[in-house]
Amino acid sequence: MKPAQFEYDDPETEEEALDLLARHGDECKVLAGGQSLVPLMNFRLARPARLIDINRIDSLSYIKREDGRLVIGAMTRHTHLERAAEVAQGWPLLTEAIGWVGHAQIRNRGTIGGSVAHADPAAELPAAFTALDASFQVRSKRGSRTIGWDHFFVSEFTTALAPDELVMAVEVPALDPGSGAAFVEYARRHGDFALGGAAVTLRLGRDGHCEKATIALVSAGPAPVRASSAEQQLRGSTLDDSSIRAASVEAVKGLRPTSDLHGSTEYRIGLLRTMTERALTKAAQRARSST
Ligand SMILES: Cc1cc2nc3c(=O)[nH]c(=O)nc-3n(C[C@H](O)[C@H](O)[C@H](O)COP(=O)(O)OP(=O)(O)OC[C@H]3O[C@@H](n4cnc5c(N)ncnc54)[C@H](O)[C@@H]3O)c2cc1C
Repeated sequence: MKPAQFEYDDPETEEEALDLLARHGDECKVLAGGQSLVPLMNFRLARPARLIDINRIDSLSYIKREDGRLVIGAMTRHTHLERAAEVAQGWPLLTEAIGWVGHAQIRNRGTIGGSVAHADPAAELPAAFTALDASFQVRSKRGSRTIGWDHFFVSEFTTALAPDELVMAVEVPALDPGSGAAFVEYARRHGDFALGGAAVTLRLGRDGHCEKATIALVSAGPAPVRASSAEQQLRGSTLDDSSIRAASVEAVKGLRPTSDLHGSTEYRIGLLRTMTERALTKAAQRARSST
């Protein structure tokens, strides 16, 4: 399959890219790693009149620490994040989640900005960023803004980005001492999109009780789902098997994941409950061994 005809620009600077986006807005698409956009264009499910290829903008590719937070430039490839030692040490949830993204070839090209802008509800990174309370730096010729995960992910393949806005970076707060995190998912074959998954962080107090929990679910709805009532239920608990099981039941209450040929809604709810239980159990073990 071949894409419909399109115009092509490959700016070398952020300013040039923002100028082009301001000029062409609605009719154009940003091309990052192309791992989602190009297949969509080849199947003619997307027919942008113009592509703005940002692969030559080196200033968008970096991983740095700023005031304790991790800041990841939008054009950072999955592979670079996966292999970064400081990420594995400080934000192991990201390293664990990325291991599930497609195959090595896809991670070599796919970018962090592309993954969040694409906003696939079955994608690993949007859920991991949601569990980590990340926010997204975006820019246009009109100015800059930082959008929290709770306002950024709107629905399936839909974010709060305006047509002239570019994702510049993702900011991820550091985990508190005494924390543990885990990412767990199930896919029919390794590299396929998840039928269900859970990204979890837990913080233990000195007495071993849970002080804070975050739970974000993959393939649970049109956008990453934060299971806030289950998070609340875990606060103050000892994170024993029964409190984890009860929180996992609570986490899937009210969910209506899509039913399709890969699994019915009921199957996916059961799967999400099991993934949540496994992720919480793993994260609790990791939190205990970190204190
Ligand atoms: C066979 C296969 C298997 C895959 N499996 C998985 C998987 O298991 N899990 C998973 O999460 N992903 C998977 N992917 C998708 C892959 O991770 C993509 O790389 C990722 O979703 C998009 O990143 P990209 O850089 O390729 O973006 P692109 O495809 O270039 O762009 C995706 C969208 O984001 C927009 N965009 C990109 N960058 C920006 C920016 N900086 N600012 C504003 N808009 C931007 C584009 O305009 C486009 O709409 C798979 C892909 C393939 C081909």
